[in-house]
Amino acid sequence: MKFITIKSFDNPVEANIVKAKLEDSGIPCFLKDENIVAINPLYANATGGIKLQINEKFKFLALEILGLTEQYYEQSLVCPACGSDKVHFVSSSKSLKNLFSFILSLVTVTYPIFLKKVYKCDACGKEFPIED
Ligand SMILES: [Zn+2]
Repeated sequence: MKFITIKSFDNPVEANIVKAKLEDSGIPCFLKDENIVAINPLYANATGGIKLQINEKFKFLALEILGLTEQYYEQSLVCPACGSDKVHFVSSSKSLKNLFSFILSLVTVTYPIFLKKVYKCDACGKEFPIED
């Protein structure tokens, strides 16, 4: 039995919601690196995020289910720089406040308080803020 990463997350809550959705559809799956990201969300960038792993034989079914989920959450989301729809939600790596928050959380062993979340384009790498 071979396991593959179908999707990665930087948020344990979102990861568990999607995992529950796949389990409800009868797809056995588990989360890899969930605990290290839960301890400090900025580790998500170092570890590659929380990885949702499934049995390879369920790949197409899972992609179809996730595709519907993605459509629901990121319907009209496109990169303002290149127009690509390959964008995802991350902790900003460019924010000085994030760096400060990361160092503070390392020193005090607490959860980072000023964690700026942005969308990042996979095509051109541009980070842009969430607009309400
Ligand atoms: Zn782009």
